[in-house]
Amino acid sequence: MTDGPLANFAAALEQMTAQGRRRQVQPVYLDGPWLIDAGGQRRLNFGGNDYLGVVADALVSVGQDRGGGTAGEAAGVPGGAAASALVCGWTPHHERLAKAIATAENCEAAVIFPSGYAACSGCVATLCRAGDLILSDELNHASLIDGCRASRAQCLVYPHRDVAAVSEILSQRRSEFNQVWIVTDGVFSMDGDVAPLGELVDLADQHDAQLLVDEAHGTGVLGARGSGLCEAVGLQERIGIRIGTLSKAVGHQGGFVTGPRVVIDYLIQFCRPLIFSTALAPTAAAGACRVIEQMEAWQERRKHLTRLAQHARGRLHNETTLMPCRDWSELESGIPIVPLIVGSDQRAVDLSRRLGEQGYYVPAIRPPTVPEGTARLRLSLSAAHQQEHVDALIDTVIGILKHPMGAKPAS
Ligand code: PMP
Repeated sequence: MTDGPLANFAAALEQMTAQGRRRQVQPVYLDGPWLIDAGGQRRLNFGGNDYLGVVADALVSVGQDRGGGTAGEAAGVPGGAAASALVCGWTPHHERLAKAIATAENCEAAVIFPSGYAACSGCVATLCRAGDLILSDELNHASLIDGCRASRAQCLVYPHRDVAAVSEILSQRRSEFNQVWIVTDGVFSMDGDVAPLGELVDLADQHDAQLLVDEAHGTGVLGARGSGLCEAVGLQERIGIRIGTLSKAVGHQGGFVTGPRVVIDYLIQFCRPLIFSTALAPTAAAGACRVIEQMEAWQERRKHLTRLAQHARGRLHNETTLMPCRDWSELESGIPIVPLIVGSDQRAVDLSRRLGEQGYYVPAIRPPTVPEGTARLRLSLSAAHQQEHVDALIDTVIGILKHPMGAKPAS
């Protein structure tokens, strides 16, 4: 490599440093709801996506799992799949997991990916073909955006949750395309709001379009059976193709697509991230499978999480100016992603640092992850938290907001 690209990379990094946007990976240890940094400091963790507390409570471990008891599984669960799914990486753990997901999701079939990112990007890039149109919400997750970019279909981005814009495009341009796909996150990962699925699926039906939903933050959290937003709003039967991750509420790793058998078979034949990547680690598949099989029974955890989210939103809305003034639906008020929009990058970083000093890890999320001028703290709640944890955090946030320069409150 010449100096050219190296110098370019160095310049880009320097620019990020100058803007205060350069980030680091740092080793951390997890201990229940606590996060311990390399220096040994313990903080209550409000940064992860362990919504049901599977990781925090070490609820599921497969170290000693003997699988389904066949001769091939008796040696225990291999750490790696050693091949892609189509070659010889699809073990009985993958098979059992795919069946468990299809059952939990009320679908004909499911296929497992090495990550949720691969599931989202691969599914969109593969199903949306040349001659098709994709309508994509402007706040969709990067994995869906990358799928749109990799697809041969034309893509139009519509303003966040703007059903009227979707309707207009469909009315005016439907006839130009073979298939039209409306692609959306179910729960939006940086805002904690939800897609207007009812209106979108009505429009899709009206205009012979297909709705594709990423359930990454809904799986395990929403719906009486815990299968996500589509279940919670009673639309599972009308939204036939759904994408999910095993790395958030399921507490493991991997992603999935679930839907009609023909869609799953098509992905298995043509989806590049599935074909050209080693299959998910069998340990992750086996662990995730145990969680999926128990998910329906974890209603108390879901209720606890919903109550925590409602409580946090209520207090933050009433006692601070950081919650955007919006009418949350009852469902939305229980979403465990709570953004505190502070505006400037510096303010978000300062607030996160001061919370860190007082024992709370709440990450600052800055552009380009979120739009310019909307830097925020993103509070992620977990069933492993207690209400006292949440109240203590909010009291600390309020204390910091009252004393922005770091002055100690008068005692
Ligand atoms: N979709 C959404 C909405 C997400 O937030 C994420 C993870 N941040 C993903 C997909 C990707 O999932 P995974 O982490 O399993 O790759």
